[in-house]
Amino acid sequence: MSVQPNQTANEKNERKSLNFIHAFVEEDLREGKNGGRIHTRFPPEPNGYLHIGHAKAIHIDFGTAEKYGGKCNLRFDDTNPVKEDVEYIDSIREDIHWLGYDWEDREYYASDYFGKLYDFAVDMIKKGLAYVDDQSSQEIADQKGTPNVPGKESPFRNRPVAENLDLFEQMNKGAFPEGARVLRAKIDMASPNMHMRDPVIYRIINHPHHRTGTQWKVYPMYDFAHGQSDYFEGVTHSLCTLEFEVHRPLYNWFIDRLATDDYKPRQIEFNRLNITYTVMSKRKLLQMVQQGVVSGWNDPRMPTLSGLRRRGYTPVSIKNFINSIGYTKVEALNDFSLLEFAVREDLNKKAPRVMAVLDPLKVIITNYPEDKTEELETINNPEDEAMGSRTIPFSRELYIERSDFMEDPPKKFFRLGPGMEVRLKSAYVIRCDDYKKDDQGNITELYCTYDETTKSGADTSGKKVKGTLHWVSAGHALEAEVRLYDRLFSDPEPDGHKERDFMEFLNPDSLQVVKGYVEPGLAEAKPLDHFQFQRIGYFNLDPDSKPGTLVFNRTVPLRDTWNKNN
Ligand code: ATP
Ligand code: MG
Repeated sequence: MSVQPNQTANEKNERKSLNFIHAFVEEDLREGKNGGRIHTRFPPEPNGYLHIGHAKAIHIDFGTAEKYGGKCNLRFDDTNPVKEDVEYIDSIREDIHWLGYDWEDREYYASDYFGKLYDFAVDMIKKGLAYVDDQSSQEIADQKGTPNVPGKESPFRNRPVAENLDLFEQMNKGAFPEGARVLRAKIDMASPNMHMRDPVIYRIINHPHHRTGTQWKVYPMYDFAHGQSDYFEGVTHSLCTLEFEVHRPLYNWFIDRLATDDYKPRQIEFNRLNITYTVMSKRKLLQMVQQGVVSGWNDPRMPTLSGLRRRGYTPVSIKNFINSIGYTKVEALNDFSLLEFAVREDLNKKAPRVMAVLDPLKVIITNYPEDKTEELETINNPEDEAMGSRTIPFSRELYIERSDFMEDPPKKFFRLGPGMEVRLKSAYVIRCDDYKKDDQGNITELYCTYDETTKSGADTSGKKVKGTLHWVSAGHALEAEVRLYDRLFSDPEPDGHKERDFMEFLNPDSLQVVKGYVEPGLAEAKPLDHFQFQRIGYFNLDPDSKPGTLVFNRTVPLRDTWNKNN
């Protein structure tokens, strides 16, 4: 018997797990294309913060380069000076690094190539492949035709080369107002692909550019900048989302006219990430920021990477989520719960367990000495012994969760009620003897007794109790502001309604702020540190936190209660 069958099984698994993009890449490698080079790029437009959809693109761009020993560039697609901002550039860099990827010294800008692109446009004019059109954008649109009806040729289409050269130069010198003229590629007004019907490749914009200042008055369109930039950078695989599939013939058309050697970048499209109860377009996210329905781009309810980071999501959980849904050629809408599952799975391993009470009810242990405090040992994470243990103070007055007591509990309520016993986590078994109510009938205090022989880790009582509650010592606990987040939208597809604006579906209860108590050790927590508040959920320390005023964000509840509640 040989070991072959096993290897074959492994190879089969490997092949099965290969997404179609990697299958294409391997095909190119097998065929010896590009001298075996793999070079990708991530090309964000710096007109907003990155969202989790971008993480899907980043993961395949950088991940593919990593897997095949290649390189991945960061290229800012800054072809529209009006919408772009340096603030966005900084945030994009930070977010990519946070995800664990690095572009080394290969940080490029489409604006680096404005000179080369301009020269290429001039070259196209000279070859009779581009012309200046004096019509308005409306007139041009009216002549475009429909997929089944060919477009009409512009009356300026056959302008002499010399006139085109002169006009294009004047456009760039600022001789004409915005919208007065455009440069168009001369391709085919009858093409079944609308993008090939003499696309506009340059327009006049009178707005200073964040990098090139007022040097240029004409700016290339995305389609005229993107593929060429790929080519200039030696990119071999240009991975992008499906909406660019129809642009591919144009992408290749320009490359064919630009490429002077054998090498040509290959565009491969994959499906966008869409998640339920979320909008994923920078334009819409910007609208929410501008209208103040969130506190900013990094509001923990936002699907931005900065928001998710602040919320406590981890790079690993985002990657695992993206891997679990994979890359395909069909658009899909993924369940938000899948992402939350990945977050829980990661934090379960990483987050120390601590005690916090979010809706406190005072418990007085009547048989415990008034001036006594014990430091009780408790382990930090049962999933990871290496995380060790710590001590927590126990005293006569404690807080437990209000929902853990019922005056008249049903049979299977294994928490506290009159005469009932529970274990306090890492402490003692207590029995509820009595309770006090205020004039409105609210329970204000429980009077309990503890049994000294039931100390956790040294229990000699032989007692069996069903419930274990979390608690904090009232005199030692720290007050904390706790921000409980829920879905930002109450509709699974907020931007999927033709007649109604996505803003109409904002969830009015997406943020609830409560005052709670946390164990004193949390005074040492650093911003973004993760914790599991036992029996409640995963939380992290918000950067708004200051010594004396702790602020926590709920990253995700312990269990997926969303599907049950709705
Ligand atoms: P938006 O529509 O949110 O403004 P965009 O596509 O205009 O996004 P870019 O900055 O141009 O944003 O995108 C940079 C890269 O990220 C592109 O390659 C784009 O295909 C990819 N990308 C953007 N949104 C998603 C998404 N939801 N899923 C996967 N990839 C995405
Ligand atoms: Mg874009």
